[in-house]
Amino acid sequence: MIDLRSDTVTKPTPAMRKAMAEAEVGDDVYSEDPTVIKLQEKAAEVFEKEAALFMPTGSMGNQVAVKLHTQQGDEIVIEERGHIFNYEMGTPSVVSGVLIRPVKSENGTGILTWQEINSALHVNQPYYACPTGLICLENSHNLAGGSVMTANQCEYICDNAHQLKIPVHLDGARIFNASVALNTTVADLSKRCDSVQFCLSKGLGAPVGSILLGKKDFIEEARVWRKRLGGGMRQVGVLAAAGLVALEESRFTLFNDHEHAKQLAEGVANLKGVKIDLEGVQTNIVIFDVSEANLSSIEICEKLEENDILAIPFGTQIRMVTHYDVSQEDIETALSELNKILS
Ligand SMILES: *Cc1c(COP(=O)(O)O)cnc(C)c1O
Repeated sequence: MIDLRSDTVTKPTPAMRKAMAEAEVGDDVYSEDPTVIKLQEKAAEVFEKEAALFMPTGSMGNQVAVKLHTQQGDEIVIEERGHIFNYEMGTPSVVSGVLIRPVKSENGTGILTWQEINSALHVNQPYYACPTGLICLENSHNLAGGSVMTANQCEYICDNAHQLKIPVHLDGARIFNASVALNTTVADLSKRCDSVQFCLSKGLGAPVGSILLGKKDFIEEARVWRKRLGGGMRQVGVLAAAGLVALEESRFTLFNDHEHAKQLAEGVANLKGVKIDLEGVQTNIVIFDVSEANLSSIEICEKLEENDILAIPFGTQIRMVTHYDVSQEDIETALSELNKILS
């Protein structure tokens, strides 16, 4: 099976399984799990942030951040295809009582400019507009096809937001992919952000887990909200051990996934009825349009599945994501099957 649906399908590596089996553990609700503590310290060091907290999922990391940065009745500003808006079950309204103000990225990259964000803000408009409580950024941008935001772009947004006393949260589920694509550190890519969340369970290959980072006080409060939401876990060092391997080893292999994505995108560009923006393929996500093909996106994915290849149809588009369980040969196989289906 060649599974291109997502990088979440990665299974723990042998090194991870070994680390999990050998992990020293304790009760993490009492902050007594040495492996969790080690992972959190390592993450804080890599991101150059004061503190870090292990989260069961990226969604919980994001939603705890939304909760802590906002008051009920605030708005949060986010690009209209952002994960926090589209794929987190309306939790901002359920848990935080905030409204979402989606903003269109005019150049289509999913990466908002400060001008676009600024025009959506409500500052000092008491008694009629919901005040903007938070700006949420995403790097790399999942639904926009893994596009990346540079450290400068991010810093510029943060500096302007902070002048207006608005905090910035970065959904960095795939920030390590962005850092590889931009040849810069994750610390630089999240430098001025008040909080950042990243996933251990995507391309980094850990079976479970995300990390939320920020200032010490913020993370202490995040621990309270994690518990309230049911995310206080006990001997969770068995999972953190895999996370440590992800952080110490897997991130240095993401480059291969990007090479495979390029190879896939270039192959797809030559197929009949397919449209793809090659420049938009910056990391490990490949999205292409099949509205002019002989079959619908769903039909194409069904035919791929008959040949043991999995991909996700989105409207008239198909998404394929590379990860370490996908080899160069797998890409060639996927391309040749796609070619047969589309001819
Ligand atoms: C995967 C992902 C998350 C978190 O997802 P979980 O499944 O809750 O871990 C958050 N943001 C983005 C952009 C993602 O791709």
